[in-house]
Amino acid sequence: MKETTKGTTAVKTNGEGLKIRIYPDPVLKMPATPVERFDSELSSFIDEMRRAMALREGVGLAAPQVGVSKKIAIIDYHDVFYVLINPRLLEQEGEQEGEEGCLSFPGIYAAVKRPARVQVSAQDVTGVDRVYDVEGFTARAFLHEMDHLEGKLFIEHLSTLKRGMIRKKMRKRAIGEDN
Ligand code: ZN
Repeated sequence: MKETTKGTTAVKTNGEGLKIRIYPDPVLKMPATPVERFDSELSSFIDEMRRAMALREGVGLAAPQVGVSKKIAIIDYHDVFYVLINPRLLEQEGEQEGEEGCLSFPGIYAAVKRPARVQVSAQDVTGVDRVYDVEGFTARAFLHEMDHLEGKLFIEHLSTLKRGMIRKKMRKRAIGEDN
């Protein structure tokens, strides 16, 4: 059985380090719930997410990827660290295409089309509203992580054929791990 955090309960972790949920873990398909409490548990959870991401050399991580269905995402790209809590897309412009990977799909990369520039509003770890204007790969990372908070995965941006191939590969792997 999978455990997810819902409602207004604060996020709790056991301090053993966060485990990354791998597709097809059902928590990855669930829309996350908004964060309502900005307390020390939230900030220590974000610290743990950051450690888990750095350990795997990720550039972005969303809370559902560690089994916590809350609207929290982090991005660490070119030495800039972003914390996006309850993010909202305000504007988008242009188009870019580039390789994308995901910690929940180890070793899988595919070209994904995204807007070239976005404006996003999000709360920070203290609950303060912030607006970010980002472009290029940073915009791609923002959108990828924000998708996670809606239960949407990067493979859903691919053609049916390509998506089918990746799904098959991931399911085969999951069965292999259970044996
Ligand atoms: Zn991802």
